[in-house]
Amino acid sequence: MLNIIIYVFAFIIGTLLGSFTTLAVYRIPKKENILNKRSYCPNCNHKLVFWDMIPIFSYIFLRGKCRYCNDKVRIRYLILEVFSGIIYMLFVMSLNLNILNIGYKELIYILISTIYIVTLIIIIGIDREKKYVTRSIKKFGLIISLIYILYLYIVGVNIYRYVIYYIILLLIYIIQNDKYIFSVFYVLFLTLLFTGTIVTLATIIFVLLILAIKMLVQEHKKIDNNKIIPICSYIGIFNIVFMILSNFVNSGM
Ligand SMILES: [Zn+2]
Repeated sequence: MLNIIIYVFAFIIGTLLGSFTTLAVYRIPKKENILNKRSYCPNCNHKLVFWDMIPIFSYIFLRGKCRYCNDKVRIRYLILEVFSGIIYMLFVMSLNLNILNIGYKELIYILISTIYIVTLIIIIGIDREKKYVTRSIKKFGLIISLIYILYLYIVGVNIYRYVIYYIILLLIYIIQNDKYIFSVFYVLFLTLLFTGTIVTLATIIFVLLILAIKMLVQEHKKIDNNKIIPICSYIGIFNIVFMILSNFVNSGM
C-alpha cells in the first residue's frame, strides 16, 4: 500500500518535472530565464496563474486551449507530461526503495539522478526541435557532473575514470566547436559518467540500430544529405530506458 502511494507521488513529481522540461525546451534556445520569469501563453503572452499550470489536469479542464485567447495548446505538452510521469515512476520503482529505511546516501543519489534525467529530457527536447545541444546545457551538465563526482568520492568510490570523463566533457565545452558531432560526444561522455560502461554500450548499440533502420527506410525516399539526424536525442532516450532497466536488474526485481 505504501509503495502505491510512493509510485503515485513519483508519477505526480514526474509530470511536474515534465511541465518544467517543456518550459525549459521552449525557453533555453531563446536564452530566456527558466527559473525567475512567470509562465505565459506563447500566443497572447498572458501570464498564467497556478490553475493554468497543473500538469495534465489543466490541459483536460481547459480542453487544450489557452484560457485567455483560446489558442490551442500543443498536444505535445500533454504527451511530454504524461511520458515524464511514467518515466519517473518507473525510475523510482526500479530503485526498489524501502521508504522506512532510507538514508542520506539514497536521497542524494535520487536527487542527482533526477536532475540527470531532467537534463537528458531537456537535451532530447531541444535536439528534436533545433538539432543542437546548447552551451548552457553543456555548462549545466558540467556542474551536475562535478557534484556527482564529489558525491562518489564522499561515499568512497574510486573516481579515477569519472575524472577522465569529466576532463573530456570540459574539453568539448572549452573548444566551443559548433559541429554536431561534438555534441554527440558530449552527450555520450555524460552518459558514461552517470550510467557507466554497460548502460552506455547498450545505448550506443540501440542508437546505431535505429540509425541503420532509418537508413534502410529512407533508401526509397529522396535522401537529403544536409539533414541532421537528432542523434543526441536518441542517445538520451535509450540511455534513460537502459538506466532504468539496469536499476531493475541491480535491485533484483
Ligand atoms: Zn493565450
